[in-house]
Amino acid sequence: MTHRTKGSRKRKAEDEHDDDSTNKKVRKRTNEVFRYDTLPNLSVAEILTASRFGMRTVAISVGSGANQKTFDAHEDLLTSHSDYFRAAVNGSWKEATLRNVGLDDEDPEAFQVFYKFIYSGSVFSAKEGDHKKKKAASSSENDDEWKRLASCWILGERLLSTTFKDAVVDAIIAKHHVKRQYPIGMDIEIYPNSHARSRARKLLVDLAVWKWDDQTLEQQLKEDTSRFEFLYDVAAALGKIRRTGCQGASPLDGTTCIYHEHEADGKPCYKTMFR
Ligand SMILES: [Zn+2]
Repeated sequence: MTHRTKGSRKRKAEDEHDDDSTNKKVRKRTNEVFRYDTLPNLSVAEILTASRFGMRTVAISVGSGANQKTFDAHEDLLTSHSDYFRAAVNGSWKEATLRNVGLDDEDPEAFQVFYKFIYSGSVFSAKEGDHKKKKAASSSENDDEWKRLASCWILGERLLSTTFKDAVVDAIIAKHHVKRQYPIGMDIEIYPNSHARSRARKLLVDLAVWKWDDQTLEQQLKEDTSRFEFLYDVAAALGKIRRTGCQGASPLDGTTCIYHEHEADGKPCYKTMFR
């Protein structure tokens, strides 16, 4: 009897304990459900993205007319990669209240590359059919990817995005190494849209000095006098090499940080942000 009583008391205690832990489990599950319920109509993929990048998004309309495209991007990512968006979202601009930014003059194709970059850390600039004709291995005039990369760098300059500009510069160097090509004429787009001490200018000059063959150099020097500033920089760099000697390997074979702008801006290299 005593034993039974003890047993039933014990069972009662166990039952209460079971009830208690069941209640705890139910509460925990309810909390989980409640937490998910606070994210309205989101798929699991969207919930995972939201937890990584924050909940607030901004709609960006890029281009005009039939060419216009709209991108929904997470505010935290936009503002960490672009001082332009930081001002647009946090500032007193009308965009700050509308959470809608219009970039009518920008190229949607280049923006697409920026958009993918802020989520991945990679520059996806190649497209099917970029290299239209198989000419000499060094030819770049028929390869649209060089033009797209130039547009991307210019977009990075306008969006005040050091990370994107530096990543585009790395993509140019990587394409040069992998495809064994060098860009010709990229200066026509980048020089008018950059300042004199820009690292992208340094890269274009180094590519011309270290990689162009004699024939290309001679052709380009003759061809277009509107490129005076670029050709002046190339001549100055060649003169320096002549005076001091080549002194080892091409600078293009070393660290690409010499072509990045993060140091001048007092920011870390974009590569450290995507590890
Ligand atoms: Zn760097």
